[in-house]
Amino acid sequence: MWIDDLPEIPSELLTVPGVRRDPVEEQRAFDENPLHEYSQLYPEIHRFTLRKLWPSIVPHAPRMARESKRLKIEAESEPAIEPDSATDSRVLTQQTREAAAALGITAIGVARYDEKYIYSAYHGQAIGDRIIVCIQEKPNIDDAPSFRFTRNSIAAGMDVDEYGMKLAEFLRSKGYRAKSQGHFMHGMALHFGVEAGLGQMGLNGQLLTPFAGSRTTFTLINTNAPLDFDRPRDYGILGICDRCRACVRRCPARAITSKRTMYRGVEKAKIKTARCAPVTALAEGCGVCVKVCPVQKYGLKTVLEEYGRSKRIIGRDTDELEGYDWPLDGTHYGPGELPPLPKDLFNPPGTNFVFDRQRPHGNDPQRDFVSG
Ligand code: SF4
Ligand code: SF4
Repeated sequence: MWIDDLPEIPSELLTVPGVRRDPVEEQRAFDENPLHEYSQLYPEIHRFTLRKLWPSIVPHAPRMARESKRLKIEAESEPAIEPDSATDSRVLTQQTREAAAALGITAIGVARYDEKYIYSAYHGQAIGDRIIVCIQEKPNIDDAPSFRFTRNSIAAGMDVDEYGMKLAEFLRSKGYRAKSQGHFMHGMALHFGVEAGLGQMGLNGQLLTPFAGSRTTFTLINTNAPLDFDRPRDYGILGICDRCRACVRRCPARAITSKRTMYRGVEKAKIKTARCAPVTALAEGCGVCVKVCPVQKYGLKTVLEEYGRSKRIIGRDTDELEGYDWPLDGTHYGPGELPPLPKDLFNPPGTNFVFDRQRPHGNDPQRDFVSG
C-alpha cells in the first residue's frame, strides 16, 4: 500500500500529523459563521466560470444529468436488510477497502463526521457518524493549463461519483445506511481527507496525497457503518512545501502565499480567491499550482528519496517541472518567468466580482478544499 511504501521521513520535515488546529477557535468560527458552499457565496463567479469552461463540460453533460438523477434516487435508498451484528468492524473495514479497490477508487479513508466542516445547507442531515473519503487520481497533467486537462479532470470526477454511489450500495447491501454526495459535496473534502490520513495541505491550498499530490478528485460518503477510523498523518509535506514553494513562485495570478496563518482554527496558506478565480475561468481551468508540484509529478516516495540523498527538492527550478504553456498568449514560461496579466483580467467585462468581506458570510471554503 502506498503509505507503507514510503521511506523514513527525515525529522526536519516533520511537523504535526495532519494540520495544526485550535479546537476552541474552530468551534467559535463554526458557531458564529458556519461554512457555505462556494456557489452560494459567489454565484456570479460560479456562473462566469461555468460559462467560460463550458467547452470542457459539454461532452460530460449527459453523464452528469444521469448521475444527478441517480444521486437523488440514492438519497432515498435505505438498506433492505439488518446488519449482521456478528460482523467485526475490522473485517467490515477490510471488505469496504477491497470493494473500493475493485471498483477502481484510488484510495479511501474514514474520518469522523463533523458538522463544522459541512456546508450549512446540509446541517442536520447526517445519517451516521462516519465519512468515507474516496479519492480518484486524475490523468497526467503535463499539458495543463488546457481544455484537454480540464475535460479529463471532469471525467475523473464523474468516475469517482459513480464509484462512490456503488460503494454506498455495497454498504447498504451489508445492512448499513450510506449516502454518497457526488461531485457537489456537502462539506470540505480537504478537512475530511486530512483527518482520514490521505494527505496534508500543501501551500497550494489543496490536499497533497502521497501518490499524486493534488492531481486528484474526491467524493464523500456519509454512513453509519462501524468502520475503523483512520487518523491524520505527518507525511513531511509541510516541511517539503517550505523547501519547495514552486506553486508560490509559478502561480500566474500571484494568488498563493508561502505564509501560513490560523484561519477558522486551522493553520493554512490561504489562496487569494479574487486573483485565482478569474484566472482559472479565463485560462482553461489553470491548474498550474497542481502541475508544478513535485509531489504530484514524481510522487512523495521519490521526493523523499531524493531529499534523503541530496537535501534538494526534486525538479525544483527545472523546466520539466515548473515550465508551462500559457493559453492566454500561447507562450511557454520557464522557471523564473511569469506571464504578464492585464489588470482588467481580474475584473472581466460584464462581471462584478465581489469577494470575502463584502459577503454576509465572509468565508471562502472552496479554494481551500477542492483539488485542482
Ligand atoms: S489555479 Fe492557477 S491562478 Fe489559481 S492558485 Fe492555482 S496556479 Fe494560481
Ligand atoms: S508545489 Fe511545492 S510548495 Fe506547492 S504544494 Fe507542491 S510541494 Fe508544496
